[in-house]
Parts: sequence; structure tokens; C-alpha cells
Amino acid sequence: MNTQSYYEDLKQLARQVRAENGLSSPRVLPNDLMRIYAKYEITVDEWPYRFRNLRGAFINDHLGATVMVAKGLPQDPMAFTMAHELKHFFRDRDLGISYCDQSNLNKSIEIGAEIFAAELLFPDRDFVAHMNRMGIRTNQCLPKNLVQLKRQTGTTLSYAGLAIKAERLGFAPSHSLTTIKTWRKLEAL
Ligand SMILES: [Zn+2]
Repeated sequence: MNTQSYYEDLKQLARQVRAENGLSSPRVLPNDLMRIYAKYEITVDEWPYRFRNLRGAFINDHLGATVMVAKGLPQDPMAFTMAHELKHFFRDRDLGISYCDQSNLNKSIEIGAEIFAAELLFPDRDFVAHMNRMGIRTNQCLPKNLVQLKRQTGTTLSYAGLAIKAERLGFAPSHSLTTIKTWRKLEAL
């Protein structure tokens, strides 16, 4: 399987997990993921402290499947990290352990988990439907449109995640949204 079809397969898997678990909106909460974890008997352990760059890990051993997450993550990064780790449960159990370090992000296993998580939280076709409903055409999406989208949908996908999606799906020119670091400030305008 080439890399592109590997990523497409993961998006398909994410949509299947949504359908099987009654997720129909782009607002997927940590509690929704807890419910899915319980169904597949995945244990969640919180680290009592944060490691730099390390958001989570997936461990599969004689005790079963365990996901470690940094304690005290805010709602949106918690939902995304739990979604990311779910990909390792479905596809990488044979590896035993996956460390989800930001510096690992050039590996297709890790990129794939990011793609899976973004699709699980906010499927591409739903994003396109929202853009169409807002009347946003090719290369027209502005930062304020993503603020509006986040407010309207209450999506747990971060601004960084929404920006990647908008550019990749052609609603914004490359690097016009993904370079923004001041979303919270824009939100307050
Ligand atoms: Zn990972």
C-alpha cells in the first residue's frame, strides 16, 4: 500500500468509527472517546506530569491495550490525542508501543494517526459542506471564517487542525492559515 492510500484507508476507518459510535457532529468530546475506549476495553492512564513534546502513548502488552495521556490536557487537545491513540489501537497493536512525540511526526505511522484523528473529529466532507453553506469558495477562507466555524459547530478540532483542512481542501491558499499563531486573539475580536 502506498502512503497516500494508507492515509485514505485511515480516513475511511475514522468515518466507520464515527458511524458505529453514533458520532454525527464535529463536536467530539473526550467523553465520547471514553465511551469508545470502554467499548474496546482500552484503559486510559493519565501521566501525573507533562513531558516536553510527548502528548500520549499507546501500549499493547499482556495487560491489554493502554493509552497514556498527559494529565490536565484541555478539552480539545485531549479529544485529539485520544483520537490519535485510537488509530494506534486499530492499526499498530503489533508494534507493542507507540510514543507520540511531536518529533516523531515525520513518520507515516504518526502522520497517519494525525490524519485519522482530524477525520474522526471533523470529517473532510462535513467540513466541505460547512464551507459551502457559509458561501466560501476556492481560496476564499479567511481566519475569521474559521473562528465563525468553530463557534457555530463547537468543534473540538483545533484551529491548527481546521487551518490544515482548509488549505488542503483548497479553501485557502497554502500557508495563509496554517502560519497563524494568534487564534485566541482573533477569537476575541
Ligand atoms: Zn502516535
